[in-house]
Amino acid sequence: MRTEEPRPVRLEDYRPPDWRIGTVELDVVLHPTATTVRAKLSVSPNGAGAPAPLVLDGDELTLCSIRLDGKPLPADGFVATPDRLTIAQAPHRPFDLEIETVLDPTSNTKLMGLYRAGSTYCTQCEAEGFRRITYFLDRPDVMAIYTTRIEAEKKDAGVLLANGNLVAHGDIAGTSRHFAVWHDPFPKPSYLFALVGGNLGCVKDSFTTMSGRNVALAIYVEPGKEDRCGYAMDSLKRAMRWDELTFGREYDLDIFMIVAVSAFNMGAMENKGLNVFNDKYVLASPATATDGDYAGIEAVIAHEYFHNWTGDRITCRDWFQLCLKEGLTVFRDQEFTADQRSRAVERISDVRELRASQFVEDAGPLAHPVRPTLYHEINNFYTATVYQKGAEVVRMIKALLGPQAFRAGMDLYFTRHDGQAATVEQFVQCFADVSGRDMSQFMRWYSQAGTPEIKVAPHYDSAARILRLEIAQIVPPTPGQPNKKPMTVPLALGLVGRDGDDLPLLLDGRPLPHGVIELTQSNQSFVFNNVPEHPALSLNRGFSAPVKLSVPIDADELRFLAAHDRDPFNRWQAVQTLAMTLLKSNVATVRSGGAPRLDQGLMDALGAILKDTALEPAFVALTLSPPSEADIAREIGSDVDPDAVYAARRALRAAIGRHHGARLAEIYARMTSADAYRPDAPSAGRRALKNACLDLLALTESDAGIARAFDQYRNADNMTDRMAALETLAAHNRPERAAAFDDFYTRYADDPLVIDKWFALQAVIPEPTTLDRVLALTRHPAFSAANPNRIRALIGAFAQANHTQFNRRDGGGYDFVANFVLELDAKNPQVAARLMSAFRSWRALEAQRRERAETTLRRVAAMPVLSPDVNDIVARTLADNSNQPAC
Ligand SMILES: [Zn+2]
Repeated sequence: MRTEEPRPVRLEDYRPPDWRIGTVELDVVLHPTATTVRAKLSVSPNGAGAPAPLVLDGDELTLCSIRLDGKPLPADGFVATPDRLTIAQAPHRPFDLEIETVLDPTSNTKLMGLYRAGSTYCTQCEAEGFRRITYFLDRPDVMAIYTTRIEAEKKDAGVLLANGNLVAHGDIAGTSRHFAVWHDPFPKPSYLFALVGGNLGCVKDSFTTMSGRNVALAIYVEPGKEDRCGYAMDSLKRAMRWDELTFGREYDLDIFMIVAVSAFNMGAMENKGLNVFNDKYVLASPATATDGDYAGIEAVIAHEYFHNWTGDRITCRDWFQLCLKEGLTVFRDQEFTADQRSRAVERISDVRELRASQFVEDAGPLAHPVRPTLYHEINNFYTATVYQKGAEVVRMIKALLGPQAFRAGMDLYFTRHDGQAATVEQFVQCFADVSGRDMSQFMRWYSQAGTPEIKVAPHYDSAARILRLEIAQIVPPTPGQPNKKPMTVPLALGLVGRDGDDLPLLLDGRPLPHGVIELTQSNQSFVFNNVPEHPALSLNRGFSAPVKLSVPIDADELRFLAAHDRDPFNRWQAVQTLAMTLLKSNVATVRSGGAPRLDQGLMDALGAILKDTALEPAFVALTLSPPSEADIAREIGSDVDPDAVYAARRALRAAIGRHHGARLAEIYARMTSADAYRPDAPSAGRRALKNACLDLLALTESDAGIARAFDQYRNADNMTDRMAALETLAAHNRPERAAAFDDFYTRYADDPLVIDKWFALQAVIPEPTTLDRVLALTRHPAFSAANPNRIRALIGAFAQANHTQFNRRDGGGYDFVANFVLELDAKNPQVAARLMSAFRSWRALEAQRRERAETTLRRVAAMPVLSPDVNDIVARTLADNSNQPAC
């Protein structure tokens, strides 16, 4: 809570720790309200500097005893507060420090440190949770070897897990208690520590690594849910094999464990050898999980597993380097999914997500560089910028160097920095070393926030057969960064000839390596020779750089690219560009009371794609989906009316449904399968296309369209189809909607993960009655503010995904979310702050909503007691950065 002015942490203030901790021996005796933790730390001075006081971090800790080299420290030998333990005169030599603390895991509602999810004891230590377990140098550059003994009543916790390998376990004679000892031979920072105790079911398997070692695999879940772990286990084994084949990375311990818990602040956590997961990313069955859930499980299981090398073996020197593990690991999991499923579909999906979340973040008051230089609360930097833009930056290194040099750079990174806490500079230096390139300008991607805007002016000289591209780039100002320098931008491109084939790419007479030109200056020109005809320009193929591109390209050319570009991403992009142009103009028309215009050219482009049976169904489904409301609002930029954005988008989708009705109905029938459900990507793609057709057909408001959806709802034999039908019905205020929602609750009342979907879907209905409905749902017996998944499902979905109702003109949406945040803040500040970030685009709204949002934000900011988490988000959201000098 806000007891003192929060002090910012700055990258420039980094200095190595004064002390090292070599080994940590923990002895944890689990108890619901009085767990004791004895920690024996081997401490030594770091380097030959002058003697320094030993200052250990704590957070709400209660010290029971402290001994130095076996002897109790006298009362005047140390100062212990809940958040710090200081030994001013620590001996300037190696010594053992034994600290005993006592914790109450049951009342730990922040879900950081040791807490209980249901009756299961579990931990979450990233970023700064270990200091809630014992006093420690709780910073990632202090890496130690951990041995963990856990003891508990057998009936309370039959399973006792910690990082590493199991070295001893057994009953404690004469008692009803037992113990387990785990040893992790790999040095790790404290944020990767984990322990779990509970009565859990287990699914076991094994994996033989590329060097022939046998690794035991185990997934622990609530008893009775073992039959829902199959896909997670299968994903894990595929991820382990892929990392061997693609990056040469082999698993290192004797066992790899995953524990699924129901109360978790994040998606999952990569603790060494013992990943703790939000059960949403583990449990799946055809009857309870959608294709999206299956894909999410595959991606998150892989992501956390890949952290074993990018995060655990090589960790971050400090929290400013968070993108070093997250951006890189997101890149790795995206590549894994691309290889497992469809590269084109994965890329389009990732870019859609990037634009809807990261581009929006980059355009608002919470914009920050991929590697920030200052934070008040690190928990607020687990952002789309660090994760997704961080992944794009790694992808650009690959685009610049080509795949072979990229792999060589990764290999060098793994060998050079194994066992270390590294920095972004060290990572990028590996690529400079293997390629001989100077990467210093490229580093601006880590230091400059904002989405670069690239303007391209093409000039074709048919007599000289020369194409000249004049390219300008600007990086817009962002908070604290009014003036930017030009970036290194790898722009993949193709020149498409009239027959649809690519023309040769000769830049200044030489073939272009990897088909990529490199922008490095504010203004640059590129000359292509021997261009036999006026080409259609296919720029930023595969979205080679996370930039906003503007090219004077007319609708005919876009339709041509939509039909012929050999780069599937740009085929999709051409349709998106056509749709965005129309949508922006229709938003203005709707606001002035006019009717949205129809664009025959766009309809023709879509028609060509619908007819092309060679295309992957999942790709066609993505093409049928116009830019998101968030994306349209960001493109409009200011004076945004979310109601008009929604109306224009819905009108376009209804027009597609009407215009292509017969074709959509035919595809719906063709994509419908009588086979038993299978979660594989081709089957999922067919369902995605089928359900996209279902939705567009219902938007024509014909009774047949609604009846088709209601039929599908009732007769579906899997959650994907049932949920898709319910989503379609949710958008229509018809009697079938209420009937389906009631039925859905009755069917799945006992299944929390499915009931989350029920809450979320009601929260995103874009109708004025939704606010009252959501308010009523907060009082529903199934709603609990103690469960982050439930909060995200109801309040998070309303705030982040219901653009018209969160941004109600009367401000009711803002007040509702703010009031909920204020109530939640004392219990779980991390989740509260996350909800509060829904206000991040308030300055772009039209005047009345802007005023209402500001009033609400100022009311929250004025609260006498506010967590540092929420305080930080509100302060940054309100800050006027219009002309702010660098701070
Ligand atoms: Zn991660």
